[in-house]
Amino acid sequence: MAQTKEKPKRYQFKAEIKQLLDILVHSLYTNREIFVRELVSNAADALDKARFEEIRGSKIADPDLPFEIHIDLDEENKKFTITDTGIGMSREELVANIGTIAHSGSADFIKKIAGNEQQGPELIGQFGVGFYSVFMAGSEVLITTQSHDPKEDAFQWRSDGTGSYTIKNADKAPRGTKIEVTLREDAHEFSEKARIENVIKRYSNFVPFPIKINGEQVNTISAIWREPKSSVKKDQYIEFYKFITNGSEEPLSHMHISSDAPIQFSSIIYIPATNPEMIGFPMQEEGMNLFVKRILVQPNCKDLLPNYLRFLRGVVDSEDIPLNISRETLQENLLISKIRNVLTKKVLGHLKDMAEKEPDKYAEFWKQFGRNLKEGYTDFMNRDEIIKLFRFNSSSHENEDQLTSLEEYVKRMAENQNSIYYLSGSSREVIQQNPHLEMFRKKGLEVLYLYEPIDEFFMTNTQEFDGKKFASADQVEPESLDEIKAESEEDAKNNRPKDDRKLADLCARIKNILGDRITEVKPSARLTDSPAVLVNPDGSMSAQMQKIMQTISKDSNVPPKVMEINGKHPLIKNMLKLYTNNPKDKRLTKTVENLYHSVVLLDGYLPDPHKIVAGLQELLLDSSKLYVKSQ
Ligand code: ADP
Repeated sequence: MAQTKEKPKRYQFKAEIKQLLDILVHSLYTNREIFVRELVSNAADALDKARFEEIRGSKIADPDLPFEIHIDLDEENKKFTITDTGIGMSREELVANIGTIAHSGSADFIKKIAGNEQQGPELIGQFGVGFYSVFMAGSEVLITTQSHDPKEDAFQWRSDGTGSYTIKNADKAPRGTKIEVTLREDAHEFSEKARIENVIKRYSNFVPFPIKINGEQVNTISAIWREPKSSVKKDQYIEFYKFITNGSEEPLSHMHISSDAPIQFSSIIYIPATNPEMIGFPMQEEGMNLFVKRILVQPNCKDLLPNYLRFLRGVVDSEDIPLNISRETLQENLLISKIRNVLTKKVLGHLKDMAEKEPDKYAEFWKQFGRNLKEGYTDFMNRDEIIKLFRFNSSSHENEDQLTSLEEYVKRMAENQNSIYYLSGSSREVIQQNPHLEMFRKKGLEVLYLYEPIDEFFMTNTQEFDGKKFASADQVEPESLDEIKAESEEDAKNNRPKDDRKLADLCARIKNILGDRITEVKPSARLTDSPAVLVNPDGSMSAQMQKIMQTISKDSNVPPKVMEINGKHPLIKNMLKLYTNNPKDKRLTKTVENLYHSVVLLDGYLPDPHKIVAGLQELLLDSSKLYVKSQ
């Protein structure tokens, strides 16, 4: 039904698109050629979808029209036109797809790009804002589109990329989408054949449909994943990676896998060099594309690898899977789960090899994707292999960058040591100040430093490695360390609190002052340098785990714990003197309150800053009086 006389309807771009267009047109003129890549990639997607519809048995418009991309260049009139015979769009689809940014990350994208223009072209492709890049080179854009659905009309979309666009009905057109770009004064180069051919060769060589410039095909269509490894060059792997990621970054590593049993498939899998999740982007979409007999049946297929490996990018192609498989049945498909099992094992094997043969590269991998891999502790089938890939910073290292595997830790363990010790904290500095570390330091026992909450979950869930139990350093009893490395007679004598009975009395007095805030006060055998520490009562969880659970249940109270005091510390010795002189001495009460505040702070709580500061300032006043007196 032709309705070309109809008055075009005007729509405003959404605010974020206006902002994006502004950035694209005014800031990103380096590398403008990527708009060609973006339009070709959209055309290829549209063709993939149309072909998929046809395979599924849907009735599509113009079924005899070959799946192709045509680029027509008009040097005289400075025009660039790209036409595909793909899926096309209805009016609603035009408004929804071209008028709004569908992806939730778009606001983030705009923020990031605004301060970081060089990375712009890289980010555009990743964020699905590709179409708008056309306005970097075009002063006016006209889209004519005819849906694959034979019942739909054709539509025309027009905009100069400033604030608004119009849509109107058009005469019936062949299936697909035609985008006509009137080039800006300073972008006339994009109407030259040699220039465009060069761009296509650089970015779009792997597009699996013929790309014809002014009628002449310029790309070679090949599925490199189906070729034998020996015939694919390193550069081709890199090119292909850039193609599937729509970016210019090179991968960290790749694997080329072909399998005949238990199921036939070929695959190329890449490990990217950087992880967007690490710099605050939301959880990434799965990056594997499923092909059946060289035809893309599902991009970003989430069933080909477990979720913790979502950062991998690549393709899987199998002859054995039915072409018309749907998203819903994929998940239950036995063949797919077999492929997933094989791929997961291959990937873990590849990482193991990398760790052994290229430790520096593996360290780089761990820095980027370690956090993702840690989620894999829930993969029971592969858990043993995954745990061996974990790396930790520990007390045997000199700085935060050094890492150890659990296997290496076990090799360094003391002869009678049966546990793997760890301690959690927000940084190396914080952990090293933790009084619980003192007795390990004294005995020269290694403690792993954990910096992320997921580490605690992993330790508590997994419980052991190689028959050695994981133990949080703040839950270990000093006696159990004596069994590993017995103290010398001398040490034992020095460590025993000098005046046991009096110290026990002091403990009782402290408990009396602090009341229900603590469960018990006792002399400590674990401390060397600190006056006191809080210890979780027997059998309960580590301090860090307790904090995680409290965060989850929004509970900010300090849980009652055991307070241990160090009889050899000058502060405790002085308190003992005060106590012996007068058990009710007010100054003793004050000191106990302040000591309690300090151990609570060290334990990672900040219950009542006003009280803490008031106590501290009172002490300052006392000591200043003494200073003045001694002047
Ligand atoms: P992305 O391709 O990453 O989704 P774009 O801004 O490039 O982001 O395109 C937005 C949407 O517009 C696409 O997802 C698609 O639905 C639609 N689109 C773009 N170009 C075409 C085309 N040639 N044929 C059909 N639909 C298209």
